[in-house]
Amino acid sequence: MSDATTKSKKTAAQAPSTSNFIRTIVEQDLAAEKYASRTWGGRPGSAKVHAGAPRDPAKIRTRFPPEPNGYLHIGHAKSVCLNFGLARDYGGVCHLRFDDTNPEKEEQEYVDSILAAVKWLGFDWGAHLYYASDYFDFMYEAAEYLVRSGHAYVDSQSAEEMRANRGTLTEPGNNSPYRNRSVDENLKLLREMRNGGHADGAHVLRAKIDMASPNINLRDPAIYRVKKASHHRTGDKWCVYPMYTYAHPIEDELENVTHSICTLEFEDQRPFYDWLLERLAEGGLLLRPPPQQIEFARLNLTYVVLSKRRLIQLVEEGRVDGWDDPRMPTLAGARRRGFTPEGLRLFAERIGVAKADSWIDYAILENCVREDLNERAERRIAVLDPVKLVIDNYPAGKEEDCRAPNHPQKPELGRRALPFTRELWIEREDFMENPPKGYFRLAPGAEVRLRYAYLVRCVSVEKDALGNLTAIHCTYDPETKSGAPGAETRKVKGNIHWLSAKHAHAAEVRLYDRLFKVPQPGTERDFLEDLNPGSKKILTACVEPALGNARPEVRFQFERKGFFVADPKDSKPGAPVFNRAVTLRDSWGKPPA
Ligand code: ATP
Ligand code: MG
Repeated sequence: MSDATTKSKKTAAQAPSTSNFIRTIVEQDLAAEKYASRTWGGRPGSAKVHAGAPRDPAKIRTRFPPEPNGYLHIGHAKSVCLNFGLARDYGGVCHLRFDDTNPEKEEQEYVDSILAAVKWLGFDWGAHLYYASDYFDFMYEAAEYLVRSGHAYVDSQSAEEMRANRGTLTEPGNNSPYRNRSVDENLKLLREMRNGGHADGAHVLRAKIDMASPNINLRDPAIYRVKKASHHRTGDKWCVYPMYTYAHPIEDELENVTHSICTLEFEDQRPFYDWLLERLAEGGLLLRPPPQQIEFARLNLTYVVLSKRRLIQLVEEGRVDGWDDPRMPTLAGARRRGFTPEGLRLFAERIGVAKADSWIDYAILENCVREDLNERAERRIAVLDPVKLVIDNYPAGKEEDCRAPNHPQKPELGRRALPFTRELWIEREDFMENPPKGYFRLAPGAEVRLRYAYLVRCVSVEKDALGNLTAIHCTYDPETKSGAPGAETRKVKGNIHWLSAKHAHAAEVRLYDRLFKVPQPGTERDFLEDLNPGSKKILTACVEPALGNARPEVRFQFERKGFFVADPKDSKPGAPVFNRAVTLRDSWGKPPA
């Protein structure tokens, strides 16, 4: 096992995490006591907001700020692990903050799913659950302050005019004809906007910075817009809503965040982030040293789409069975797929945190899940594609127990009984009538070990009128029972699994595979055309008796077949349903034909 693997394994067991450039910054800040003097006192004119502000003595403060407009996915998991992981490792706290500045319908479903996903991943925000909408009063006050101090104005250009006057990467923009409105006129208009006196899009409030700035984000960015929409928390109170780029620095500051970690596309926004907090500090609205924004590379994962727009499309067009379809890259989907929070945390740790964009191979994720499941999943037997095997010299009606370990590396987990009888199920693929050289499983005249039981030799086969195999006949050697003295003296190469036909339980098994058949869906053609048509196969399998009553969400290794989970929604005692989480080995090593 590589060094990286060993290191990450320790992490999964809660040892200190591997270093990265953000950890280095945090360590330097702590050594310099950069945040030691942060005050926790009241804030002028914003007692309401401040009443709920955190007062615990955290050494650092990070936040995970999802917008409640979709389910969390594996990319978000990277950010959750990073932010909560820093807080955990450096005596800090991490806030879970819903960035709900954009009024939308049905957000509560998303809020609930996000809370559940973060919890499931293993992180705890404690008392620190916040909503950006709780700060709308302060944000509006701050906007009036910017107007009064000459740092913002109401623009009444149409959207097209604004776009045309914004300039390009190589050409400066033009000042709006409304840029020099008087403070009084701006204030009057802004209040009218707030009170519902103007239609959506009629005016916007813009920061007054520099239309010639080489950074387009500083060319008088919009900070408030008219939007007569109900908000899931503030109802109809507001007819204006703050823009994300304006709201976000204020949210961070009000919550006393020290390290505001975001993805690289916000790098060009950092000057505005700093500009805004400087202006508000000048005006005495903010009392503390500002948070620092730090950017890192977002996760891009092969064979997966992570864009919310595309994920919503998959759900709405019924291409998948909902947000928690086991093939979805959402955390709800990963959970239903049988992935473990530990496996995902291991993944986040192993891919690290970098400053440059890159693609991570989906196989790395699968390997982390496999590694974790290999440790924790008990072993069971399932025959996915059963064919009958009859042991001609085994007495009809006789039953005996074979003992199988629940985990080969963990004897403390004990053994269980597998009933052995004359008629068994084995996998169809474990028999070949005309085997190629090097095939060590069952074939006419060949001998294999029935795992945990006897050696058997194939003596004949039965076929139906169409020539399909219907049964395999064998004889067994009673001296070779696994565990009996001398049983292992005769070695055979093949070792196959089986179930007693009389005792086996039928189960629905869903074989899930990658949702997309190409590494970067949607780059060559519409992403829907890259869907993998074989990503879900449903079988009726035979499973060992103990699995008949598997509890939902319990994960197993089906020997030789992969890791499976009893479906959290559809599996019922007596009518089990299993989802394949991951195969035992990567079968996607080479590109598909
Ligand atoms: P939107 O386009 O709706 O903004 P988003 O993916 O950025 O989508 P958010 O809810 O804003 O969704 O994301 C919450 C947090 O998760 C942000 O801090 C964002 O930087 C982070 N995040 C989102 N996608 C990824 C990703 N692929 N890798 C790492 N972090 C991500
Ligand atoms: Mg976002």
